[in-house]
Amino acid sequence: MAVSDRGAGRLYTTRLYVFSGADLVAPELPEGLKPDKLLEGAERKDLPAEFSGAEYVEIPGIDETGPIGFLTLAKDFPLPRGWEKIPIRKCLPPMIAGERSGPANRLLRACHIMQWRRDSAFCGSCGGPNGDHPGELARQCPSCGRLEFPRISPAIIILIINEKGQALLAHNRNFVPGIYSLIAGFNEAGEDLESTIVREVREEVNIEVDNIRYIASQPWPFPNSLMLGFTARYKSGTLTPDGKEIEDAKWFNRNELPDLPGNGSVSRYLINLWLEGKL
Ligand SMILES: [Zn+2]
Repeated sequence: MAVSDRGAGRLYTTRLYVFSGADLVAPELPEGLKPDKLLEGAERKDLPAEFSGAEYVEIPGIDETGPIGFLTLAKDFPLPRGWEKIPIRKCLPPMIAGERSGPANRLLRACHIMQWRRDSAFCGSCGGPNGDHPGELARQCPSCGRLEFPRISPAIIILIINEKGQALLAHNRNFVPGIYSLIAGFNEAGEDLESTIVREVREEVNIEVDNIRYIASQPWPFPNSLMLGFTARYKSGTLTPDGKEIEDAKWFNRNELPDLPGNGSVSRYLINLWLEGKL
């Protein structure tokens, strides 16, 4: 269930997230303080009066971790002095094996639901305005009764290792210049994840892989993915970037690495496991 309350100023949780576009809005951090201090959201008492007209939404946490509250400001909302926008992926701490559902996952859940609510304002069947279902985290159309649940799009990310123990890292045209990361791609309708991996690797770098093994997952609500991290072994083929999505791809040794993706991503988690000799 989602409780939404436009502009009435009723706030239920003592801490809450504030979003603008897909970014987190937070008090400017004192020098030297890391963005992961923002994972639990802002204190309600610290919110400026300028935010009082924003829609407040409260959703259940996972695993009885208590409700999660968030405010949604317009993408171009002029922020008052002392507040700033921060890309959510920059707030994420490094993933740690066995640690799940901490404050980072509450932030990711809030971000996902915030965007889903924005994108599900109207019924996909009859076009009428959707309402919130009273008992579940779902939208329901009051005209035709259609229910809509949050959409989650599975995507694979794959660390490929060759017979020399080198890892395949690629530069995607959408990356910041110089950054190399893992091959990734979306699961297609009617496709199992192993086939997604084989197809994406073949399409993007023209090689074949086997020994596919699942390692870890990460919610990645930009806007609605679940990243599923795997490893695989190089089997055959000549490494050839597709030149469209992948501009460059190379085998790297552990001691000669390019710039890597951010610490909070599952791609970095997989790369770190390989660097530590655990894959
Ligand atoms: Zn409808």
